[in-house]
Amino acid sequence: MSRMLTLALSKGRILEETLPLLARCGIEPQEDPDASRRLIIGTNRDDVRLLVVRASDVPTYVEHGGADLGVAGRDVLLEHGGEGLYDPVDLGIARCRLMVAGPPDGPPAGRRPRVATKFVHLARQHFAEQGRQAEIIKLYGSMELAPLVGMADLIVDLVDTGNTLRANGLAPLEPITEISSRLVVNKASLKTSPGGVGALIDDLADASQAAAAS
Ligand code: AMP
Repeated sequence: MSRMLTLALSKGRILEETLPLLARCGIEPQEDPDASRRLIIGTNRDDVRLLVVRASDVPTYVEHGGADLGVAGRDVLLEHGGEGLYDPVDLGIARCRLMVAGPPDGPPAGRRPRVATKFVHLARQHFAEQGRQAEIIKLYGSMELAPLVGMADLIVDLVDTGNTLRANGLAPLEPITEISSRLVVNKASLKTSPGGVGALIDDLADASQAAAAS
């Protein structure tokens, strides 16, 4: 019997956009991962199972061998550091931009802006690269709220359509970097299972190319 391959995914856009790629590889989950409360979901292939984890935990599961492979946003990988991970394929899914956002007329001039974000490292790096002082305030979600209650002047968040910002009276101000989701791989898994893990990497790379071309 071939070795079990475990692929870590997160609910939301990544799951929605990864399932069609898996389907192109002939892999179908046995139940809808979005609806199920199960955290380990079997597939039509005896040797492939899915793990449903928090987006920011995908690199940790893959790095520490809880999963052989995973799909993670470039934002999460950059923030995590990504050491010890091999990230061979840009799947081209869940595209968006990491941006500085805030009031449409910008932050109040003349003082060090307070910046609310869950991307503490990326935000710090962005302001440091520009030689700007900033006070970074760590949040775990709903960053848009912080400027509305006067807790921060700016936020650093992912922006897709800009609707979330607009709905909260905020505007995109500066792009930081383009984001899409990447396939990440445990290096030891690839060494011990070049046939299984390597073949799945190749299949997903082909599927993402075919999806992009269609
Ligand atoms: P939007 O309103 O379309 O600009 O989407 C912004 C909201 O969706 C923010 O709360 C983001 O954190 C989240 N978001 C947008 N794109 C992504 C993505 N590719 N991955 C994860 N979250 C995203």
